[in-house]
Amino acid sequence: PVDRTAEIQEARLKLPILGEEQVIMEAIKENPVVVLCGETGSGKTTQVPQFLYEAGYGSDHDIIAVTEPRRVAAVAMSQRVALEMNLSNRVVSYQIRYEGNVSDETKIKFMTDGVLLKEIQKDFLLQKYKVIIIDEAHERSVYTDILIGLLSRIVPLRQKKRKPLKLVIMSATLRIEDFTENRRLFPVPPPVIKVDSRQFPVTVHFNKRTPLDDYAGECYRKVCKIHRMLPPGGILVFLTGQAEVHSLCRRLRKSFPYSGKSVTKEEEDDSQEAMRKFKKSKHKKPVNLPKIDLDNYSAMPLDEGDEDREAGEGEEDGEGSDLELGDEASDADEKPDYSLPLFVLPLYSLLAPEQQAKVFCPPPSGTRLCVVATNVAETSLTIPGMKYVIDCGKVKKRFYDKVTGVSSFRVDWISQASANQRAGRAGRTEPGHCYRLYSSAVFGDFEQFSLPEITRRPVEDLVLQMKDLNIEKVVNFPFPTPPSADALIAAEELLISLGALQEPPKVGRLKDLQKAKLSSPITALGKTMASFPVSPRYAKMLALGKQHGCLPYVITIVAAMTVRELFEELDRPAASDEEKERIKGKKARVLQMQRIWAGQGPAQKLGDLMVMLGAVGACEYSGLTPKFCDNNGLRYKAMMEIRRLRGQLTTTANSLCSDIQIFLDSKMSPPTESQVTYLRQIVMSGLGDHIARRIGQEEMLDEKWRHAYKTPLLEDPVFIHPSSVLFRELPEFVVYQEIMETSKMYMKGVSSIEPE
Ligand code: ADP
Ligand code: MG
Repeated sequence: PVDRTAEIQEARLKLPILGEEQVIMEAIKENPVVVLCGETGSGKTTQVPQFLYEAGYGSDHDIIAVTEPRRVAAVAMSQRVALEMNLSNRVVSYQIRYEGNVSDETKIKFMTDGVLLKEIQKDFLLQKYKVIIIDEAHERSVYTDILIGLLSRIVPLRQKKRKPLKLVIMSATLRIEDFTENRRLFPVPPPVIKVDSRQFPVTVHFNKRTPLDDYAGECYRKVCKIHRMLPPGGILVFLTGQAEVHSLCRRLRKSFPYSGKSVTKEEEDDSQEAMRKFKKSKHKKPVNLPKIDLDNYSAMPLDEGDEDREAGEGEEDGEGSDLELGDEASDADEKPDYSLPLFVLPLYSLLAPEQQAKVFCPPPSGTRLCVVATNVAETSLTIPGMKYVIDCGKVKKRFYDKVTGVSSFRVDWISQASANQRAGRAGRTEPGHCYRLYSSAVFGDFEQFSLPEITRRPVEDLVLQMKDLNIEKVVNFPFPTPPSADALIAAEELLISLGALQEPPKVGRLKDLQKAKLSSPITALGKTMASFPVSPRYAKMLALGKQHGCLPYVITIVAAMTVRELFEELDRPAASDEEKERIKGKKARVLQMQRIWAGQGPAQKLGDLMVMLGAVGACEYSGLTPKFCDNNGLRYKAMMEIRRLRGQLTTTANSLCSDIQIFLDSKMSPPTESQVTYLRQIVMSGLGDHIARRIGQEEMLDEKWRHAYKTPLLEDPVFIHPSSVLFRELPEFVVYQEIMETSKMYMKGVSSIEPE
């Protein structure tokens, strides 16, 4: 029996999913696999685990598992469900990559999908669990897809056992055919239960113009306008990354300061009075509130022009100059306005859980809540009281080069489905408004849905993980959406060349060869590699790193290469002459430091990798402070991530091999000359196919090959990136970490492979 508070009980009863409890529980009882669809906020994540618990699925030693693609959701949802059920977090717990609070009393366990995948490696039948809920399946994260594929096989295996396993797949958008119509995945299509949602109408306002770059500035102006002119209600802003989120938060807090003291009744009255006065003085004409369409939630405004004007957009162009809005008045915007406190909170994946939890609390009285979030607020978390959504239309995504497998983060347009999800966040508690900072024409060009992640990235790490689970014929794996055959073949070939998979037997015909290649079993080396949470190339380096005391160095280099972009971008446009000078000075200093870190003698051959090693070493030696990082042009956040990853890799290495016992050394001394030689070999063992040869004067047929390199993979010339310490030296042969295409194709993370 669950003892909920009256307040919680009342809130629950408002959720549409509560009326469906019986239908859902019956379907789960009768079927091994059930798909549950409902709009974000309908109560899937918080309520279904409770239904299952109350129906006895979490009794004795049985656990209800819930997987989330994001760490932030796993933590937040476990806390929310514990609170709703009035149970401690020893009973309703979470487990994510670096931490957790699971105990021997745990009955409901929220975890990331990656954590459950690791558990399958230890116990393929997942015998601890009686039910597995795959949440947010619509996000189509690679691990979610793989888990669903694996569970489609585990569930039938468990059916013959004493304790059958139930699988519940929960999804927000209604594009579930990949799960239900895929006969290879589920020969018997699972029943689909749709939960109606209590969605209030959301009026969508498009911008007339789409800002080219400064969508963050556009967000700022929009928040100011809404806060000054529109009735109470939370504002939710979607931006793309943590840095942007923080910068907008700072700017807004400066413009609408909230003192932090709890506002007394008197002060509240005062501030209301101030607000009245403010409104009177600024608004000579009554504010035109946007028309709310109560009957129709439409993503497209009927008449764009009208909606824009009603949203207060028109003022910017003409008579509204007294409103102190718009670009030209940005200085005035920055002037603090104490009469209108705005309670501004950031929200993104890496934010500490206590900080994240703040968005769920009501803001201090007399203030308006404004949450500036990344994509995490799109579907995983429902923030109460949001009435206005500002959607920049962008998302930060990883992109991969098909040829080289090289990845980079880029900001790109979202899909129409995402835009509609974002808009929907405004209509959870009352009718709302969504301001899209792009035109309806641009919206029309968005993809309808984003492609599942698995089709957009190389899959060598997944193939290795699967082989580690003894799935030899990866092509036959029941993917909800399979990766391309090319991607699978490329992955298998790379893993064979790294020694992680057995060489296929020599066969005559090419077709047979390809077939044989796609079913190579894993080797002992491959098993070791599979235990490291990094790309197989780097895992290979780690697996070989034990010799000659090189492991701490290899761990550091691998962590740095995995985190990427250690150095600040200093080629940015300066706002003033003064700043230009400052950046120039910093650049010179960073260059000097890089030369020092690059070492002397043979160490110099390690090039950029030696710089990474030196930078991490110096940073740790100085105690890893934001100041040290700033002085030396290093990104503090990257250095912190490297520290965490080094810790994790060190733990993994120690657990694999009890005789090495290495530890994280903050006073790591530079490698000796002979260690440098070994390090160069170890690097080659993972990046052996990433080699390039400089084109000499005599063979240069075209100007475009000046200072260029030729790689076996590409027809076109590639170059050493100007930020590399080897940029001036241009060694004849180099090995590189990755190629990034900007104005040219540039190699990054370059080492020389010339003989000493
Ligand atoms: P779904 O998984 O269907 O998107 P949830 O179960 O996450 O829906 O949320 C259901 C409702 O519970 C939301 O509409 C929200 O109002 C409320 N809710 C969820 N998490 C919290 C929280 N941490 N604090 C307060 N309310 C919450
Ligand atoms: Mg949910």
